[in-house]
Amino acid sequence: MTLARHLAAARVPRYTSYPTAADFTSAVGPEQAARWLGEIKPRESVSAYLHVPYCRDICHYCGCHAKAARRESVVDAFQTALRAEIAVVARHANGPVRIDRIAWGGGTPSILGLGGLASILSQLRDSLDMGALAEHAIELDPRNVDPGFAMGLAALGVTRASLGVQDLDPAVQEAIGRFQPQTQVRRAVDALRTAGIGRLNFDLVYGLPHQSEASLRQTLDAVVDLAPSRIAFYGYAHLPARRANQRLIDESALPGTQARLDQAALIGDTLKTAGFERIGIDHFARPSDPLAVAARKGGLHRNFQGYTDDPNDVLIGFGPSAISKLPGGFAQNASDIGHWRADVTASKLATRRGHGFTGDDRNRARLIESLMCTFSTELEEADLRLADELALLRPFAMEGLIELGRAQLRLTESGRPFVRLIAAVFDRFRTEAEQTFSEAV
Ligand code: SF4
Repeated sequence: MTLARHLAAARVPRYTSYPTAADFTSAVGPEQAARWLGEIKPRESVSAYLHVPYCRDICHYCGCHAKAARRESVVDAFQTALRAEIAVVARHANGPVRIDRIAWGGGTPSILGLGGLASILSQLRDSLDMGALAEHAIELDPRNVDPGFAMGLAALGVTRASLGVQDLDPAVQEAIGRFQPQTQVRRAVDALRTAGIGRLNFDLVYGLPHQSEASLRQTLDAVVDLAPSRIAFYGYAHLPARRANQRLIDESALPGTQARLDQAALIGDTLKTAGFERIGIDHFARPSDPLAVAARKGGLHRNFQGYTDDPNDVLIGFGPSAISKLPGGFAQNASDIGHWRADVTASKLATRRGHGFTGDDRNRARLIESLMCTFSTELEEADLRLADELALLRPFAMEGLIELGRAQLRLTESGRPFVRLIAAVFDRFRTEAEQTFSEAV
């Protein structure tokens, strides 16, 4: 096995946070989260993430916290609980929290319907200080977007939509249990644009069963033709031991490590030729998109949804499994929907896990975020005391994957695909035996 294939097969976190959610512990509960909520400064701009954990059906490849909801009563009970949680969080804050960005994720947020989304927004407005929003984004399943729904979203103030496109090859769609013909995706795109929601993200996946370079090329051509402003291209993480639905995936049809490397290279080359700028490890954006602008100006960040231009330090997550980044640390809600609902409807915070930041965590988080966003980092005085970590980087330098100076660590072009591995060197929670994460490429 070549070094590149060996490194690509290594399992490491995606570092949407540091420490990663896998390293949270039960030492953080509702009392700690309440204290941290009280530390949010009165006029500080805060982002809100609303996690809707339900979908109509579960796709074979899904790695999200999502459950199938076939009865409306389940969705109604969820809505009531989400409104209750917003009120509970507001009660623990030190005055009205100023929300200036909203992101709906899931699951399938549109399962709430326009009325459900409106009622949650109205609860946010009643309980918190929500004025003009810098961004109001929602994840959408293209199979659920028609002209009326798109108009309704625009009326609710939605400014950006992320469409789960994954792959447009019918054979791949069949293998992942998600049928959405290209014409259906196009209709969703047209409906959103007609409604005035022009900032469109596509979520795409490589490393899926039956995906080949030829099929991926066709998907890429169609995607470029649909002209989204932003694309996130994730490597499929096959973890059937943790995700029962992924056991429906035919493992023999999955591309191997070298094929994944080739697919990742094809995606990068094709989208660059089509005029997209590469952002970090897995995003692409048109030069005029705020993400590309932020990347050029050094304002790119990493949060639980990936790369973002969101400059806010505080993020409040609502819904089961949602993670908040508060002044003192991370606080994650109960992942079990029933446990989460029981807590919030009893007017309690549903925090179950988390991590309180130490000075060392903040320093390592800065290094890791900088590496993940810019493929380089300045080494400050405190970093030079990480002698063990700096020694672990030497083999990467000898392979030409990084350049390590006294004041800067920079990945070379050939080192960029391995940035997660290099970031992991600064992660004090990682061990070589770690098997719960996805492949590095
Ligand atoms: S992939 Fe998306 S639509 Fe499919 S089950 Fe998961 S969250 Fe739901």
